[in-house]
Amino acid sequence: MLIGITGTPGTGKTSVTKLFEKDPFYQVIHLNELIKEEKLYSEVDTERDCVVADMDLVYNRVLELQDSFYPVTIVDSHLSHHIADIVIVLRTSPVKLKERLEKRKYSVDKVRENLEAEALDIILAEAVDWCEKVFELDTTAGAVEGTFKDIERIVKGLRNGDTEELEKEFR
Ligand code: ADP
Ligand code: MN
Repeated sequence: MLIGITGTPGTGKTSVTKLFEKDPFYQVIHLNELIKEEKLYSEVDTERDCVVADMDLVYNRVLELQDSFYPVTIVDSHLSHHIADIVIVLRTSPVKLKERLEKRKYSVDKVRENLEAEALDIILAEAVDWCEKVFELDTTAGAVEGTFKDIERIVKGLRNGDTEELEKEFR
């Protein structure tokens, strides 16, 4: 089972997926690191200080890396809804997200761009368009551990075929 953890930068994807690394049930792929390490991009956008990923290369590489030894492979990235059919979209309220992004070395423009994207539900809308199953988790208030538990519940629920119940609770 391939699950994408997606969401605007700063919503908590890397923090929460790191917690799954210790669990032998889960393989975790931190996709943004992989894209940079293996140069899976077609362009470097110096103005916006980011790379433009080559999604064909990225998709094929994830399939190659996916190890059937693990029942579940988790992909951590704001691009993961481009490659997984099941995704969890992390969400954060504007005030909190601004706080988190300003702690990074992000430029004023980059902070604004990401706040806008979150306010306009850009990633959620893309996920709903492209993916088979989409769940939402709000990381504004609770601790990382709480989000970890919620993701675990979604995964276990999916494996039991409780999709309908999950969709009521996490949408
Ligand atoms: P992303 O990978 O989505 O860009 P990060 O995990 O790098 O986000 O950063 C998110 C920040 O928000 C971290 O400092 C993390 O500790 C904090 N945070 C607070 N609450 C949560 C939560 N419930 N889930 C995930 N991260 C959280
Ligand atoms: Mn991250």
